[in-house]
Amino acid sequence: MASTRREFLLSTALLALAPRLAAADAVLAEGAKDVQEEFGGPYQAPALRDRVARIGQRVADAETGGTMRVAVDLIDSDRVNAVALPDGRILVTRGLLALARSEAEVAAVLAHEIGHVVADHARLRAQRAQTRPDIAGPSGEADFDQAQERQADRIGIEAMAAAGYDPGAAPAFLARLDADHRLAAALVGRPELASAAANGADHPETADRVAAARAQAAALPEGESGEAEWLAATDGLPWGESPGQIPFRGQAVIDPVARFRWDAPPGVALMRQRRRVMGVGPDESVILFDHLSQPGALPARLYLERVWGKAVGGVRDVEALDLGGFPAARGRALVAGASGAWDVLLVMIETSAERRDRFTVLTRAGSPAQAPARAAVDSFRRISAAEAAKVRPRRLAIAKVRPGDTVASLVGRMRVEAAEDRFRLLNDGDRPAPGSLVKLIVE
Ligand SMILES: [Zn+2]
Repeated sequence: MASTRREFLLSTALLALAPRLAAADAVLAEGAKDVQEEFGGPYQAPALRDRVARIGQRVADAETGGTMRVAVDLIDSDRVNAVALPDGRILVTRGLLALARSEAEVAAVLAHEIGHVVADHARLRAQRAQTRPDIAGPSGEADFDQAQERQADRIGIEAMAAAGYDPGAAPAFLARLDADHRLAAALVGRPELASAAANGADHPETADRVAAARAQAAALPEGESGEAEWLAATDGLPWGESPGQIPFRGQAVIDPVARFRWDAPPGVALMRQRRRVMGVGPDESVILFDHLSQPGALPARLYLERVWGKAVGGVRDVEALDLGGFPAARGRALVAGASGAWDVLLVMIETSAERRDRFTVLTRAGSPAQAPARAAVDSFRRISAAEAAKVRPRRLAIAKVRPGDTVASLVGRMRVEAAEDRFRLLNDGDRPAPGSLVKLIVE
C-alpha cells in the first residue's frame, strides 16, 4: 500500500548502500511482513514487549490526552531500529532494546515515532509521492524528509517530558546510536560508511539532531530515567544472534550445527535478515547467503541448472566442484537492467542430504570488487566439532561495579570483538563508579 508509515530511526544502517539490489530483490517492499523479512521474525518476550508498550502509552497519553492506543511488536534482530506502521503499531528491534540504557531512552525512541504519527507525516508523504513518484528511493530508506524528522524529534521530546521522562535521554540515545554506527563501520574497515549509514538520503546530520535535542531538553524539567528498571528488564537479552539464527564472529559466518564457516572479506558489512545473510561491500558488491531444506533435494549441479538458473534467466559455465569439503556447483549469469550490467556468481552447496546452502554474489561488470567478494565463497569450509563448540550464544549481562573494578577488569569479563570499544559504547563512559550498573556481553 502506498501510505505505509515506514519509519527508520536512522535508516537501516548499511543496507542503504545496496539500493539497486534491494529494488531488484523486492525485499524492501512495504508493510510489516516485509519489515519482518528484512530484519527478522517476531521476538517472543511478552513481559518486555508489554513494558515497552506501557512506556509508549504513557508518552502517547501525555501527547494526545488518551486518544491514541499504542501497540508494540518486538523484532528478533540485532540491528538497531524502530518502525511505525500505518495501523499504529510500532516495531522495535531487539538490538535497540539492548542499546538503550533506560526507560527514558526507550520513551525517546517511541516518542519520536509517535511524533510522526501525531504530525501525520505518512499521509503527507503519500500525497507527495503521488505527485512525485520518484520521491521514494528504491532502498525504501529515509521515507520522511529532514523537516519531518526534526519535527518528530521536537514533538517527541516535548511529549516524553510531559510524560515525566528525562528529556535528556533523547540526545543521549541518539549520540550512542551514532557511536554504534561508527564502531560498526570501523570494525569492517570502512569508517566512511558511518555517516552514510547514519544519515541516509533524507536524514539530518546526527550531530545536528543531537545538538537540537540537547538544547530543547535543557529547557525542560529533568524527569525520571528508569535506568535500574530497564537494565533489570534487559538482563540476559540475546546479543547478536538469537537461538536458531546464524552467528557472526567478527567477519566469520559460522553455522555450528551444520558445521561450516565462511569469511566475509574486509570491507564487507554483514547483516542478518530473516532468512539469509547479506554482505554489502565496496562498489555496491553484494553477497547473499541462504539455504533451502527439502527432502530429496536435487544434487547441486542439477538444482543450479534446472531450477535456480532458470529463475535468474539462465546460467552458464556451470561446473561441479568440492567446496571446503562439500560437494558444490557454481555458474555465472549476467543481469542487465536500468542500473547497469551485473555479474552474478551462483553457488549451490550440498550441505546435507536435504539441505542446500547458496551464495549469490553480485558485482558490477568489470568491478575490482569482484575478486574479493568471490573470495568469500572460496573461504567456505567444513569445521570440526571442536571449532563448532567454541561458538557459544552471547547475551547482555548487567553487573554492579565493585570497589576496585576498572574498565580493564570489566572488559576482561566480556566475550565480544572490540570488547573495550563495545564496553565504552554501551556504558557511556570511562570510569564506572562503584555501585553503578554496567552492561557486559558474556557467553
Ligand atoms: Zn523519524
